Amino acid sequence: MINSSLPELSAALAARKVSAIELAMLFLDRIDRLNPGLNAFIALDRERTLAQAKAADATLAAGTAGPLTGIPLAHKDIFCTKGWRTSCGSRMLENFISPYDAHVVEKLTDAGMVTLGKLNMDEFAMGSSNETSYFGPVKNPWDSSRVPGGSSGGSAAAIAARLAPAATGTDTGGSIRQPAALCGLTGLKPTYGVVSRYGMIAFASSLDQAGPMAKSAEDCALLLTAMAGFDTRDSTSLERPAENYSRDLERPLTGLRIGLPQEFFGEGMDADVRAAVETALAEYRKLGATTVEVSLPNSGLSVPAYYVIAPAEASSNLSRFDGVRYGYRAPEYGDLNDMYSKSRAQGFGAEVKRRILIGTYVLSHGYYDAYYLKAQKIRRLIAADFQKAFESCDVIMGPTSPSVAFAFGAKSADPVQMYLSDIYTISTNLAGLPGMSLPCGFGANNMPVGLQIIGRWFGEAKMLQAAHQYQKATDWHTRMPGGLS
Ligand code: GLN
Repeated sequence: MINSSLPELSAALAARKVSAIELAMLFLDRIDRLNPGLNAFIALDRERTLAQAKAADATLAAGTAGPLTGIPLAHKDIFCTKGWRTSCGSRMLENFISPYDAHVVEKLTDAGMVTLGKLNMDEFAMGSSNETSYFGPVKNPWDSSRVPGGSSGGSAAAIAARLAPAATGTDTGGSIRQPAALCGLTGLKPTYGVVSRYGMIAFASSLDQAGPMAKSAEDCALLLTAMAGFDTRDSTSLERPAENYSRDLERPLTGLRIGLPQEFFGEGMDADVRAAVETALAEYRKLGATTVEVSLPNSGLSVPAYYVIAPAEASSNLSRFDGVRYGYRAPEYGDLNDMYSKSRAQGFGAEVKRRILIGTYVLSHGYYDAYYLKAQKIRRLIAADFQKAFESCDVIMGPTSPSVAFAFGAKSADPVQMYLSDIYTISTNLAGLPGMSLPCGFGANNMPVGLQIIGRWFGEAKMLQAAHQYQKATDWHTRMPGGLS
């Protein structure tokens, strides 16, 4: 059961081979047993979970179940979840119980899914290794001396260890794709605006997107179909007809044109990652696809542009945490200003403070034009590069991460090294394009390698088709870390 796909779980529930309660208990028991060694879950509420499972069983009995009814999943702790603590990995929100559900949580709950708990993450989604969480690092289930990636590291570790069949994640610069790659999973960041950001704690609003993380593309397609959709509560939510993201999964790949950006295959990618990606591309050619070289000449500027734009937006978004309305307030302070500064000094961790300082600086009078405005111009050039590249291909492929999962502490002392972990994922967010990662083999120390697929705007169904056809021909996505059963 723990290795089953979502359609398999759904079939087992429909055939009464298992009840939603039994399924929830199976995963809750695994969480009890294995989470202490992983630190993926940071909030559990057995009663609430089982009450939802009971309701799902009633829906199943009534014959009104949908394809996700009764299937358990867990939410990244960035999503407001009614009645649950929603901490965003920060001391600032250590005691915040959300009074409402994020759009994504609402949609998945309405689809009958059962919430197993809330998942650890880098503080305010700032990080690539899960080492910035106030609640401590998450361990990679493939090797507990290594990071699971970030910021959705709790989501990735939970699925990889089979503590949950699926999870939500968010991706501002790579935080769904990079942890999916480092933990051997499939994860998808949708086109900006496809999934509502309502109730998702804001980091960099023009880049943030929620998406599914699971074992396979088939599972991600089902989840995305439930998560996506227009929402009046998010002004950047796109008003477009609903899509069934599973619709093209079974179509063969004959004639698919895969663009390979020369900039993604140059220096900087480890040899083991390159070997696995090249082998995957050979498999795609066997499946009927052709590859064509494309160029993204400004992609080298994506990390510097991102580290101006994202902190600028974060400095503004995080100004709401002032010790007044919600969140942490310093126990002792003098006047109002002292209360603000002590609450923020004590409530935020070092990486969050670094971003607030950078963001405030690049937005300040005198530096705005030199940094913020210039970064926005680069952003436009990066989007134009993709538009041009997509004239000669249907999807773009390359590595998700330049290396396999690294050891704890390997990059945490050097922010620039850490920031470079997202060198292949960030440009997608700057351009608003959809991207996904899927497992394509193993590299050094037997750690998983991720293949990245980037689609055209609204090209999710095509990316999922490309991923699913590959997953039908290979079995990387079915591999499970040893020693956890
Ligand atoms: N690692 C990147 C950062 O630290 C991206 C994070 C994300 O996508 N949330 O900002």
